[in-house]
Amino acid sequence: MTATAAVNVAVVVPCTEAEGPGRRFALWVQGCPLRCPGCCNPEFLPFVERGRRPVADVIAELRAAHAAHELEGISLLGGEPTAQAAALADVAAAAQSLGLTVMVYSGFTLGELKDRGDDGVARLLAHTDLLVDGRYDEARRTTTRRFVGSDNQVLHFLSSRYRDDDPRLVAANTVELRLKVGPDGGLFMLNGWPVHGARTR
Ligand code: SF4
Repeated sequence: MTATAAVNVAVVVPCTEAEGPGRRFALWVQGCPLRCPGCCNPEFLPFVERGRRPVADVIAELRAAHAAHELEGISLLGGEPTAQAAALADVAAAAQSLGLTVMVYSGFTLGELKDRGDDGVARLLAHTDLLVDGRYDEARRTTTRRFVGSDNQVLHFLSSRYRDDDPRLVAANTVELRLKVGPDGGLFMLNGWPVHGARTR
């Protein structure tokens, strides 16, 4: 890890059960070069400074979240995680060193990522256990494949940590609602898969 490595973070949820198997630390990055019609996170698309944080700080927050919640893994979403691949590879490596699994959601296909010839992307993939790849295609939206937005997207098992017969990968999608109230007001946040057929908990 370089001393200057940093992640332009859009949002962190320290513990969620709606963005991958089990309890997970979820980190959405700011900025995506793609513009899929119907993208559910349009506010995360511009490459603007949102909340740039040193990788070491992100890892410290991950450790604290793991201590508090006994996490199964982390999920990296966006925005486009591979647009910040080198820094996120350091986060992913640290997560795996803690025994956590790493799930990445990318708008690029695995083939496109491999063809990019980018060391950071290669390192991020090397530290990824589950990859959901491909553009979101709203004409092919699915409500029956958990953690997958449209039928063209593929869930890749890049390590032996998960198997395609894991029942958690075929259960109903879920949505989580959070309301934080502080001295400056309240913040309402929804994450997960807010589509017809989702189960709320
Ligand atoms: S790749 Fe993902 S974040 Fe980027 S525009 Fe498509 S759906 Fe939105």
